[in-house]
Amino acid sequence: MRARQFLAAGEWRLSPADAEAVVTVLARLTAPLPTRRGTAARARATDRDRRLQRILRTTVRHLDAGTVSPAAAALLAAVARALLPWHAAPNPPLAAAAPRYGIVPGTTEPAAPPTEAGEALLPDLTALFTALAATSVPGAVPLTPPAEPWQARHAGRFRHYTRPASDVWAAETVGCPQCGGKDGPWTVTCDWHRATLGCPCGAVVREHGLAFSEIWLVLPET
Ligand SMILES: [Zn+2]
Repeated sequence: MRARQFLAAGEWRLSPADAEAVVTVLARLTAPLPTRRGTAARARATDRDRRLQRILRTTVRHLDAGTVSPAAAALLAAVARALLPWHAAPNPPLAAAAPRYGIVPGTTEPAAPPTEAGEALLPDLTALFTALAATSVPGAVPLTPPAEPWQARHAGRFRHYTRPASDVWAAETVGCPQCGGKDGPWTVTCDWHRATLGCPCGAVVREHGLAFSEIWLVLPET
């Protein structure tokens, strides 16, 4: 991962906003599992999945808050992508309009999360986030490595989600302001500072209101 190279080269000292995100995610990464006496295997598995789900949700929250640097956003996005199988497991979002990711192609069911594969990511991520957190020294000038811009195609819709109330979700599909098209194929251009959507009609949509996760998590893995 590029983050590691920048760290090794001493080219990354966290800004306050990055530090806050890194420390919060690190706390989720290192959260111990609850101790249960005489535990049923099923409860244990749920605890393990719940920990991974909390890491994903915390990561997405910081990614979408829009306060972190592009380099940190790229890192958080990569973590969110890796933990996507836990988007709806073990606790699915309650409302029907809530975002749905990680659905098995051709079905409406989310795939069972590969718990062990997810946990296998934790030691490396913990080491990386610990090392990053250690670069945050009070008074030091932040140093942010460049983030690699990317471009991708998406033949489908982008949905922007809002939560008007607790457990109430509303979703809106992004449409092209020029031709009204919603299905693309969109050309997404992103530098982790902002993302634009290119419509087949030639219009470039900047004011789409989408959060990074609403774009990144629906794209096919590249
Ligand atoms: Zn258009």
